[in-house]
Amino acid sequence: MREALLYRQEGGGQVVCALCAHRCRIAEGKAGRCGVRVNRAGRLYSLADDRVVSAQIDPIEKKPLFHFLPGSRSLSIATVGCNFHCLNCQNHAISQWPREHPGEALPGQSLSPRQIVSLAQAQGCASISYTYTEPTVYFELALEVARLARQGGIANLFVTNGYMTAQALEEIHPYLDAANVDLKGFDDRRYRQLCGGSLQPVLDSIRRMRELGVWVEVTTLVIPGHNDSPEELREIARFLNGVGAEVPWHLSAFYPTYRLTDRPRTPVENLHQARRIGRDEGLRYVYVGNVPGDAGEDTYCYRCDTRLIDRWGFHIQQNLLQKGTCPTCEAKIDGVFYRDL
Ligand code: SF4
Repeated sequence: MREALLYRQEGGGQVVCALCAHRCRIAEGKAGRCGVRVNRAGRLYSLADDRVVSAQIDPIEKKPLFHFLPGSRSLSIATVGCNFHCLNCQNHAISQWPREHPGEALPGQSLSPRQIVSLAQAQGCASISYTYTEPTVYFELALEVARLARQGGIANLFVTNGYMTAQALEEIHPYLDAANVDLKGFDDRRYRQLCGGSLQPVLDSIRRMRELGVWVEVTTLVIPGHNDSPEELREIARFLNGVGAEVPWHLSAFYPTYRLTDRPRTPVENLHQARRIGRDEGLRYVYVGNVPGDAGEDTYCYRCDTRLIDRWGFHIQQNLLQKGTCPTCEAKIDGVFYRDL
């Protein structure tokens, strides 16, 4: 446990956390919505700071990040806790652990930031991903690891719901190389119903990250009957195009999980239609996810349509890029394709 960053004290022993857009006002002895930040005697503490529940090596394509050091390994870490409560969370066992075990000590092992960076180096990882749950809620740990990782030549990646405040982003961005932001739809009411957060802060974070020079890719899980209307998908595509046509958009297939079991799996044809919408709206790179072997997993040159990176699931079968350039028409493909960090 350590004292939290980014909070202010208020009268009556209350504190207000400024890490994410919930801006929880927390009374003494209580925790914020994420369940891992608590008010003890008028000060805010992070309980998650040294409680790492996951530290495993993933292909970077699993984040998914397709335009950042493709084919590289990423040490992927998490603590329990999340500021969202998504009905379809795939990692609910850890993300919702504090809500489902109130008052219990958090699980996880005590790994120091130096140990985490050393592990990444020893395993030949090009990056550390802060993922599985929401990195914003274990911000102090992520920030310290990220600083050390940067010194050690390791990149830092957030896989995030984008709900952090501008202040949080201001603190972390000097060390943050890339992010995949989950954009769960474009309807604020349904956003709140699905995950307990609102839309606008997520849109703001996507814009802000881009402005701060972080490489950003966006994922939308296409849920039948929830966010899969052509109108809503078009709104998302237009927003992304306004941020930058080069922002890759990953359209992932939903399957029933956790508390969202009354919807069917996403038909592949719906993903293909969504991909067409994204491309029609001018996005250069639109991907289909969770459908291994689909041609929509591959990277194509936005100018001449040469297939540049051939993927099967998270694995790269062929990469024709030459220092980030299309071998056919010499277009510079957007992203970070080799180590020039
Ligand atoms: S990080 Fe946690 S405590 Fe802080 S505002 Fe978000 S949900 Fe509330």
